[in-house]
Amino acid sequence: MMLAVHLLSFYFSKLQEDHVKKVDRYLHAMRLSDEQLLDISTRFRTQMEKGLSVESNATASVRMLPTHVRSTPDGSEKGEFLALDLGGSKFKVLLVKVSEDGRGKVDMESQSYPLPEDVLGGRGTDLFDHVAESLKDFMQRNKLDLSTHERRSLGFTFSFPCRQTKVDEGVLLSWSKNFKARGVLGTDVVESLRQAVDRVGDLKVNVLALVNDTVGTMMTCGFDERNCEVGVIVGTGTNACYMEEMRHIDLVEGDEGRMCINTEWGAFGDDGMLDDFITESDREIDAASGHPGKQTFEKMVSGMYLGELVRIVMLKMARRGLLFGGRVSDALCTKGKLQTAHVALMEMYKEGLQNTWNILMELGLQPSEDDCVAAQHVCTIVSFRSANLCAAALAAILTRIRENKRLKSLRTTVGMDGTVYRTHPQYAKRLHKVVRRLVPECHVRFVLSESGSSKGAAMVTAVAGRLHSQRLQ
Ligand code: BGC
Ligand code: MG
Repeated sequence: MMLAVHLLSFYFSKLQEDHVKKVDRYLHAMRLSDEQLLDISTRFRTQMEKGLSVESNATASVRMLPTHVRSTPDGSEKGEFLALDLGGSKFKVLLVKVSEDGRGKVDMESQSYPLPEDVLGGRGTDLFDHVAESLKDFMQRNKLDLSTHERRSLGFTFSFPCRQTKVDEGVLLSWSKNFKARGVLGTDVVESLRQAVDRVGDLKVNVLALVNDTVGTMMTCGFDERNCEVGVIVGTGTNACYMEEMRHIDLVEGDEGRMCINTEWGAFGDDGMLDDFITESDREIDAASGHPGKQTFEKMVSGMYLGELVRIVMLKMARRGLLFGGRVSDALCTKGKLQTAHVALMEMYKEGLQNTWNILMELGLQPSEDDCVAAQHVCTIVSFRSANLCAAALAAILTRIRENKRLKSLRTTVGMDGTVYRTHPQYAKRLHKVVRRLVPECHVRFVLSESGSSKGAAMVTAVAGRLHSQRLQ
């Protein structure tokens, strides 16, 4: 505590300003001007067009995947749905109840299940068996397995890029984050889930929809907010979806109405489009990651990498004698020792400096006051770059929607979710501010869609269920 008080009184001193400037100089490549952000935004626009067009789709790094979700909720969705949410910071099974009376009333039971490392990196069948067994456990605990009940509709939130030709099918195009189970790439994950459900036996469920978490987020917000037409996740990974005009979607027949496109913006830059913004630290992150050369944008933005980026930068600065009197510790040299949660703690308004000191001590360092100020500033630059990049890509999506509608100014809602957005003390505010600056002609309401990624699966399932029973009649 003493330290914090002492530090605060020093905060604006000339000496500490020097330390902030030293970090600014060292990390100048991560401090992006509005001009640079608008440039990145334009590049992303071009990538979106590339992904949508039939000639260039096959080689586009931003995949722009049709989701076969054609409308945002209209309020008629109701009933009880099971949902699985795989691919975020936690694996969850849920029961979502959308009530008949009044729009927007959603109740849910949810339970998280562990996902051991050997399941993430083992055989695909083991991964799906684990998912199905967790579902069985959830159904038993909540007495949903009674044989008198008809089959329950299930929506599967699966937060990875999938090629979909209908809403209840999806061929996995690539793994991201820390998933790498074998034998799943190029196969239909809905089919694998159905087979696993059959293997564990006695589960009366119908898998009706496969939903990306961004789509779930958009749909959940759309339930009480009619003009929610974008969904963004800044969590373990990052991605966005939005409603595109059918006439611009070459890969799907028909020109009427709109369809939700899963952009898979995490892969922006995989073709070299961001090379002039990539720093040495980004290259190190990539080389040490589970999927080198993939998810370039995601590695600069998402929660899986922010802590590691800060660690690498601090290590480099220490080695150059710019931090910790040139000393390093074993922990500072060890991958994974600093997480995004730490970055969030270090950037807290009041307790930030004290937290920074505690965290650096835990890393086996003996930070001076100036080191704490400098380390905190490293965190700010790294997480601000993330918000900036996200804002640039989002600005491109908003401009696209505005131009699709031939409007001078657009009023719209963006559904947001993800651990970084939800838990970093300043992330959301920064993101909103930069978006407003980059595209002043777009008036955006940002709505946090808590558990949106899972709840939204229920919305999509409700619509799919309606179509499913119509087909059976
Ligand atoms: C995946 C996306 C997902 C995002 C957020 C990325 O790694 O490729 O499908 O939406 O993470 O979970
Ligand atoms: Mg999620």
